[in-house]
Amino acid sequence: MFVGHYSVAFAIKSDKNRIPLWVLFVAVQFLDYIWATLVLLGIEKLRVIKGFTAGSMLDSYYHPYSHSLVAALIWSALAALVYKKFWQTKASNGAALLVALAVFSHWILDFIAHPRDLAIYDNTWKVGLGLWNYRGLEFGLEVALLAGGIVLYVARNTISAARQKAVIGFGLALVIVQIGDTFVPRTPLSDRATAMGVWIFYTLFVVVAYLLERTRRREF
Ligand SMILES: [Zn+2]
Repeated sequence: MFVGHYSVAFAIKSDKNRIPLWVLFVAVQFLDYIWATLVLLGIEKLRVIKGFTAGSMLDSYYHPYSHSLVAALIWSALAALVYKKFWQTKASNGAALLVALAVFSHWILDFIAHPRDLAIYDNTWKVGLGLWNYRGLEFGLEVALLAGGIVLYVARNTISAARQKAVIGFGLALVIVQIGDTFVPRTPLSDRATAMGVWIFYTLFVVVAYLLERTRRREF
């Protein structure tokens, strides 16, 4: 799962909870940020194999600290704690819970896409429904989720017509990125280059999410 993760960020954000969209963009990919960092440090292991699954080249055979179910629950709780206690101290418990949910949603969506490489705890009891084995279907799910999230975002946030267009344009750009990732053949990158790519692309999307809402403040 790649851009589909952002559907949750779009779907959660509302005028009521006022969690910045960029924070939710970090939250829904938080586990992958930890994963990419640990791969760069040589602690978690990744093989990039052409044709490993129809929709992804990633063989994440060792990622217990970022992607086991127990780790995902701990990271989710920790994210909510940091959000509420150390950063947005005026945030409601509900908003902190939504941040935790955003972090945990990553595991659920990965569970749908990944081919039995997600451990329940440590590196054992691996699960994953393996939708990545069905390239078109997995791509369809990513795009459908993203579209649904953006529809909710536009419906639940007071935004100008110009910003609506910008949000939809961003959504289309994410779909194009997903098309490139799913369908365009390429030579596999090294594990470290893949991890660097995760950091660069995800952070680029976070910056766009930030800019989308910054424009909004200027408009009103
Ligand atoms: Zn992941």
